[in-house]
Amino acid sequence: MKQNLVCYRTFEEKSPSSFETYKKFNGYTTWEKLLKGKMKPSEVIDAIKAAGLMGRGGAGFPTGLKMSFINRDKEGQKYLVCNSDESEPGTSKDRFIMQKNPHQLIEGMAIAAYTMGATVGYNYMRGEFMKEFESCEKALKEAKKAGLIGKNILGTGINFELINIIGAGAYIVGEETAMLESIEGKRAMPRFKPPFPANYGLYGKPTTVNNTESLASIPVILDKGAEWFKKLGTEKSGGTKIFSVSGHVAKPGVFEIPMGTPFKDLLELAGGMLDNRGCKAVIPGGSSMKIVPGKTMLKAEMSYEGMQSVGSAIGSGGVIVMDDRTCMVEALACVIKFYEDESCGQCTPCREGTNWLHQNLRDIIAGKGKIKDVDLLVEIAGKIEGKTICAFGEAVAWPVQSFIEHFRDEFEFYCKNGYSKVKGK
Ligand code: SF4
Repeated sequence: MKQNLVCYRTFEEKSPSSFETYKKFNGYTTWEKLLKGKMKPSEVIDAIKAAGLMGRGGAGFPTGLKMSFINRDKEGQKYLVCNSDESEPGTSKDRFIMQKNPHQLIEGMAIAAYTMGATVGYNYMRGEFMKEFESCEKALKEAKKAGLIGKNILGTGINFELINIIGAGAYIVGEETAMLESIEGKRAMPRFKPPFPANYGLYGKPTTVNNTESLASIPVILDKGAEWFKKLGTEKSGGTKIFSVSGHVAKPGVFEIPMGTPFKDLLELAGGMLDNRGCKAVIPGGSSMKIVPGKTMLKAEMSYEGMQSVGSAIGSGGVIVMDDRTCMVEALACVIKFYEDESCGQCTPCREGTNWLHQNLRDIIAGKGKIKDVDLLVEIAGKIEGKTICAFGEAVAWPVQSFIEHFRDEFEFYCKNGYSKVKGK
């Protein structure tokens, strides 16, 4: 299994995050090859495309294609931004890359930046990631000391400055344009798109924003070959993927597994269901993805196409497992309360809609709901979805729509019987 790991391969070493350990894993050899002209930027993009690497942050956009949007030969400043905000509830995978294998992320960023003609890169971490920030700072110092990052790298005349930056802990800063605003020193508010960051990004310059796991996968893809990486996964979902499994499982944890692994095997890695209860439902990709009934998930495989076939998506890989004691009305209210708190407030449907949804759910839980309120929830969600500046609108709408699609009877039961009957009080 260890030889098939991509981002977590140094983890079992004595000093997993050190420069020496990373060198043992062929660390920085690809970057040196590129610096010495033994590999061309176009070969890097071709290899990433051939490997089938899709963005691991949530949207699943092909990484090689995204990198090809920047014209490296066009004059002027360009930037690379690594999105290490990792705020999606249920997700905690990138933090371990930064804690235990930061050099691989640094090498991935250097390769990606050079390929796109960017000479400056930012690694933006969420406000709570103090430990990860320290680990990335230490690794950056080591890489600079070895002459691999900075000015005139290894005497080639190539420059790449890398800056680790820490935010203040807002969920919305994980949206790529909000992140650019935050780096510029402004409040993290998503921008209207177009223009997209590839044309008008950080300080108005061409910028690519990639996820931590995506960037950290690049050195291994180039070292071991696109074919090797692709074959780890399925035809449509190359490589491995890191999943954080939380909720009602015996051993919650973070696991790097080949794409296409059956969900029941992932559940087994997480120790199976807590107290041997039944699996009622699973949110497979962080709280903004659609919920899937347990019996459907137990037959599904963890890949982009596998999750699509069950009506959801792999998202950020945050797998939230719920057992047969879970009240779906309260679970949805908990998810929506989070989005109500985290809306940046720019768009009326999102700002007002999240509040309205949460109020409606609170009324249903309090026994004041009517059957028509269940339909109203779906209607409000539909009026938010697709009508906002950023994808936060979908992040709010999808849980509402899918919880009610699969567990409508529970919502109606609350409305018909009132809170006291449901709770036996
Ligand atoms: Fe802000 Fe919500 Fe609009 Fe996104 S959808 S810009 S979070 S108000």
